[in-house]
Amino acid sequence: MDQLHFFFFPLMAHGHMIPTLDMAKLVVSRGVKATIITTPLNQSVFSKAIQRNKQEGNEIDIRLIKFQAVENGLPEGCERLDLVPTDELLNNFTMATIMMKEPFEQLLQECRPSCLVSDMFLPWTYDSAAKFNIPRLVFHGTSYFALCVTDSVTRYKPFMNVSSDSDAFVIPNLPHQIKLTRTQLTPFDRIEEEKDMSPMIKELRESGLKGYGVVFNSFYELEPDYVEYYANVLSRKTWAIGPLSLCNRDIEDKAERGKNSSIDKHECMKWLDSKKSSSIVYVCFGSVAIFTASQMEELAMGIEASGQEFIWVVRPDNEECLPEGFEERTKEKGLIIRGWAPQLLILDHEAVGAFVTHCGWNSTLEGISAGLPMVTWPVFGEQFYNEKLVIEVLRTGVGVGSVQWKRIDSEGVKREAITEAIKKVIVGEEAELKRTRKWQGRQLKQEAHLTLV
Ligand code: UDP
Repeated sequence: MDQLHFFFFPLMAHGHMIPTLDMAKLVVSRGVKATIITTPLNQSVFSKAIQRNKQEGNEIDIRLIKFQAVENGLPEGCERLDLVPTDELLNNFTMATIMMKEPFEQLLQECRPSCLVSDMFLPWTYDSAAKFNIPRLVFHGTSYFALCVTDSVTRYKPFMNVSSDSDAFVIPNLPHQIKLTRTQLTPFDRIEEEKDMSPMIKELRESGLKGYGVVFNSFYELEPDYVEYYANVLSRKTWAIGPLSLCNRDIEDKAERGKNSSIDKHECMKWLDSKKSSSIVYVCFGSVAIFTASQMEELAMGIEASGQEFIWVVRPDNEECLPEGFEERTKEKGLIIRGWAPQLLILDHEAVGAFVTHCGWNSTLEGISAGLPMVTWPVFGEQFYNEKLVIEVLRTGVGVGSVQWKRIDSEGVKREAITEAIKKVIVGEEAELKRTRKWQGRQLKQEAHLTLV
């Protein structure tokens, strides 16, 4: 029989490309051939890891498709979600992805892969694959829990039964009683009438239901009620193949995910090695979220008042917003990483005791896999749903009270709430810490979850 060949096509965003690379590594380690499809600017996200895999005898191929940014009204080189300067231009980004269809189909015709694993945000890939009789698996890059919430919210529209944006409503029919407010829903989930739904969102939803099935970066024991709900109540064919980050076992793979780290990994490890066990708070909000200057100030003051030692990753767009004197005052207590941190290495270090996170699914699962309690601070996407999973289902986190969905210039969280949440998780009740620790050491069990093909 011919060797199986998987095509992987992620959305061009770090939170989607990083787990896709891990998926590719996973399948090549089982003798399957893997090809990743991306654009020229994003090649660097994959190239070093591909090189390292090659040295180990596992070949991952990469094929590039030109991204028509300027032709679609985007700035030159705007080939990744975090480079889209305003929310108004998100539509242009989507249009540019749709224009990848023709060259993508040429690749399918040339390579005839056995299977396509493509992003939920590339719904048109379903038709492309169908043209060549290739089964398509969808990758959402989020939790089962979040997709169950989305299904319930869009099906029953509970947000229409409350009179104000800040009134909480229960998400109907879920295994747990979960409450949200309108301001925490993604804009696509709070559409009242079908006719108001953009054709793109409609296509995205419909295409997610078609195809061969859905792969998740999650594991059964983490959210069994929601895996069952998704498979049996929503009747979808699904595989839980996570936590994908655990396939990165050596220091290079852990240190360089997505971008080159802005700090030397040895320097970072040395700093952590000098600290007490479980004493450091790691603060990072992923690759996309941006805060206002006043929010940055509240965060800085909140961290400082907690009295805890910390690592804080500050995105380049937010660098100038660090309050004056903060770095100098806290230099004995904290390490500020400007740009990109070796997150997996840091989370896995025993000096780290808590994770302040925006609840992007990759970060959330990486924190869970490291057995860390979390301070949850969702910003946009489905992050408010992931927060509910952490706080109310897993009960391994404390929220800062973030309530407003906003990708750029997010604000509204007060310093006192930040201080209190950090203190709660790091000083932590024994019970809470015990709960978080139970996910640690999953690495040993991961083999059991590699039953993809
Ligand atoms: N990440 C990293 N260093 C950073 C910031 C993020 O390695 O300084 C990685 C993180 O480990 C995760 C991914 O980038 O794998 C971010 O994905 P997530 O879903 O958490 O958030 P998003 O960036 O999509 O909002």
